[in-house]
Amino acid sequence: MLPTVAIVGRPNVGKSTLFNRLVGKKLALVDDQPGVTRDRREGEAHLLGLDFIIVDTAGYEDEDANSLPGRMRMQTEAAVENCDLALFMIDARAGITPLDEEIARWLRANDAPVVLVANKAEGKAADDGVMESFSLGLGEPIPFSAEHGQGMADLFQALLPYL
Ligand code: GDP
Ligand code: MG
Repeated sequence: MLPTVAIVGRPNVGKSTLFNRLVGKKLALVDDQPGVTRDRREGEAHLLGLDFIIVDTAGYEDEDANSLPGRMRMQTEAAVENCDLALFMIDARAGITPLDEEIARWLRANDAPVVLVANKAEGKAADDGVMESFSLGLGEPIPFSAEHGQGMADLFQALLPYL
């Protein structure tokens, strides 16, 4: 059985873009507007020879951007509780938001190992956000660009110990 990785994070950080890149098909809808991913999606991911099941969570996206009410919690918590590893994605261009901090608090209290991915990290505009994300207390962020495919080797290195 393949190990399972759940991508979690607030709306619009690039979760579905990463999902599509790793699955190699556009199974998840990518959009500028938060809230386009309605269903939880699963696919078989391939990353430089690592094979795993990837889950694109969308539970945060049906909710008000500044709160984490019940529905989101249930969907995302279920995904994280059933995974071998959580990929927590932030938007390095936007910087850390209160919702990122709330998700981080929840992940720190959970048993699943977490790899922190600082997405949209192509170019200098992301440097401050990458540094800021250390403050989430989830270890060293992996600067990444889901859209441009940068950081794949570093992501591979980070996942390897857990899968
Ligand atoms: P989700 O809501 O977290 O699933 O985010 P999406 O995958 O739908 O992406 C939200 C927006 O961010 C889309 O406009 C994407 O094209 C854009 N995006 C995703 N990855 C990157 C990236 O690496 N760099 C930049 N600049 N934009 C990205
Ligand atoms: Mg999405």
